[in-house]
Amino acid sequence: MKLFTIGHCEMFDEVKFARQKNIPYFRTQEFSDLMLQTDSMLKKFASTDISSKTIYLTASGTAAMEAVVINCFGTEDNLLVINGGTFGQRFADICKVHGIIFSEIKLRHDEELTAKHFAKFENKNFSGLLVNLHETSTGQLYDLNLISNFCREKNIYLIVDAISSFLCDNLEMDKFKIDALITSSQKGVCCSPGMSIVLLNQKIIADRVLKSNVKSLYFDFKDYIKNFQRGQTPFTPAVGICIEINAALHRIEKIGLAQHLKSIETNALDFRKKIKNLPVTMPNFKLSNAITPILFEQNIAYKIFEILKNDYQIVVNPTGGELHEKSLRVSHIGNLTPIDNTILINHISEILNKLS
Ligand SMILES: *Cc1c(COP(=O)(O)O)cnc(C)c1O
Repeated sequence: MKLFTIGHCEMFDEVKFARQKNIPYFRTQEFSDLMLQTDSMLKKFASTDISSKTIYLTASGTAAMEAVVINCFGTEDNLLVINGGTFGQRFADICKVHGIIFSEIKLRHDEELTAKHFAKFENKNFSGLLVNLHETSTGQLYDLNLISNFCREKNIYLIVDAISSFLCDNLEMDKFKIDALITSSQKGVCCSPGMSIVLLNQKIIADRVLKSNVKSLYFDFKDYIKNFQRGQTPFTPAVGICIEINAALHRIEKIGLAQHLKSIETNALDFRKKIKNLPVTMPNFKLSNAITPILFEQNIAYKIFEILKNDYQIVVNPTGGELHEKSLRVSHIGNLTPIDNTILINHISEILNKLS
């Protein structure tokens, strides 16, 4: 089975090997040391100062999104949500559940986020902006400069769900004044699903997190910050995934972050060039290196997904919602190469011939 999926992905051998070993007991100095080592690699790859703090949550990405919102904001706040698809909608839903007032920049699936979308909010007051840097449901990679400048001018917190762009696209937390950065084990870092990681800068910790009155025991970040001073989490973490993450980051450390990103970009550009020979289209906006959405003329996308899976043992991402029958999304992260792209595209071509 070959996975061209994002979340989770085709894992690297180094990570698979790390998970095959016995899972150690974790309230030990050895496990603390492993976590602290993970932490320093993570902060380096996120280009954030060592004074930033990390929250290691045993939960899926959505839990981390919700936890950030409830630890940093409350009913007295007013947020701006970039809602360009399934994951933007999730931020909006989280605000609704917790009674937090918000406005939305709502985008169609093929609409690019531009400065004009921000213009009408020029004179409105917000306390924070929530964005999924790569809206994985459409493939759009938003212009972080544009978003960051808006937040800087208005002096508001910038919360970035980078779950499908951290370690896939170039991303510098401090340079773009990101106050909270959310990632998850099954996406960019290419490990098993089950852990999410939140990086918080000094400012949001001091002014928001430490002053918050979170109505949650498990998701109260104060506890995580205190425990991590010694490399521990307040509750039992998914120890096996922590070990995978350490191995995955070591792999990037060994080849270098720039080279790691370059090879994903090479895979993505190679796929986008080769797929042009087939009767499919791609969106016009800027895409993340992590995936390429392809649109078919006819309503055959899900059928192709099933044939690839059942007849060729290849899995790509189907698309939810209105594009279910029209679009597939192909991932370029994890243990994939341009040769794999050729194989996949040849199979799609064969299937298209058979279907026509
Ligand atoms: C995958 C993903 C999530 C998290 O989804 P979970 O299923 O809760 O892990 C959140 N945001 C983005 C942008 C994602 O791609």
